[in-house]
Amino acid sequence: LKPEASTATLRDIDPTKLTITKTTKPGPLLKKEDLVFGKTFTDHMVSIEWDQTHGWHDPRIVPYQNLSLDPASCVLHYAFECFEGMKAYKDKQGRIRLFRPDKNMARLNKSAARIALPTFTDRNLIDILAEFARLEARFIPDARGYSLYLRPTMIGTQKTLGVSKPGSALLYVIASPVGPYYPTGFRAVSLEATDYAVRAWPGGVGDKKLGANYAPCVVPAVEAMSRGFQQNLWLFGPEQYVTEVGTMNFFVALRDRETGQRELVTAPLDGTILEGVTRDSVLALARERLVPQGWRVSERKYTMAELDEAAREGRLLEAFGSGTAAIVSPVRAISWRGKLINCGLKENEESGEVATKMKDWIEARQYGDEEHEWSYLC
Ligand code: PMP
Repeated sequence: LKPEASTATLRDIDPTKLTITKTTKPGPLLKKEDLVFGKTFTDHMVSIEWDQTHGWHDPRIVPYQNLSLDPASCVLHYAFECFEGMKAYKDKQGRIRLFRPDKNMARLNKSAARIALPTFTDRNLIDILAEFARLEARFIPDARGYSLYLRPTMIGTQKTLGVSKPGSALLYVIASPVGPYYPTGFRAVSLEATDYAVRAWPGGVGDKKLGANYAPCVVPAVEAMSRGFQQNLWLFGPEQYVTEVGTMNFFVALRDRETGQRELVTAPLDGTILEGVTRDSVLALARERLVPQGWRVSERKYTMAELDEAAREGRLLEAFGSGTAAIVSPVRAISWRGKLINCGLKENEESGEVATKMKDWIEARQYGDEEHEWSYLC
């Protein structure tokens, strides 16, 4: 699939043409304790229009405002929408840093291309995001665990009820200050394995960050919550392969029955798994720091039956989700076929060894405590 080829000669996003219109009514800063994910937004937004004759228009930063859309806009009927989730952090010197923004830009371009929306050169939007994050720096509290969540969003704006390639689009970026996911330390969650619905399938779009992937996931999550679980675990196929948890990638640590070797396992990127930036970071750190300690790191398929057997034999050491929001989310138990599989935590434990280390290691790079190429100084 190469739907982007026809737009290649049009104008790219040009960060040198960025104009900034500052708000005349700067919003109040909430108390750190009152920050709720995605509820309050900063003073400004990035806005870049595209049309099929010119390509990308000059990028603008403008006061945060409502969009004006024709009711026939294709995004409202056929879900021409994709997005990203990434964060800006304030380091000890007060400088603003993005974490692996190249990964988010590559993913946004892949998502856009798959739904016939325009693409752009990754670097050019990173430059604009950096400028935007610097402008909104006052919204980023100066404390560990706090950050500015950035939501780049692309929509098809063409006024038409015909199902076809959008002739116009809008890329905008809004930002929401967020606090630590675990203000009082890790809280392990319990999951319900969903066996009556699937999130993604081979040849589908589960590996893209399309809005259309998310609405159908809410009912299984709500169902799981109604039975006392915090999230649902997505399985696939008659084999009951384990894929993802809620809106996170999923990792398990197993001990080999014969050799005793420890193995960190996650599902492979076979088209049904979102290419999480945190997933990639966990894998890279595991290869760098756990493999020298004798661990094996595997991107392979594994089933609920395999987890169940490992748990019964005391070989399921820990399980956790990974994603931008929480970095890691330790899992205590999984409800599957009427039984509760214990994922290896002791009663008084809220996190396993790997999850705890990964959170520390990744945060050190996000906040620039460890100088590393993953951290992009704005
Ligand atoms: N899977 C799904 C379905 C997601 O929505 C997300 C959040 N983007 C993730 C995994 C984790 O991805 P990331 O580490 O890039 O936040």
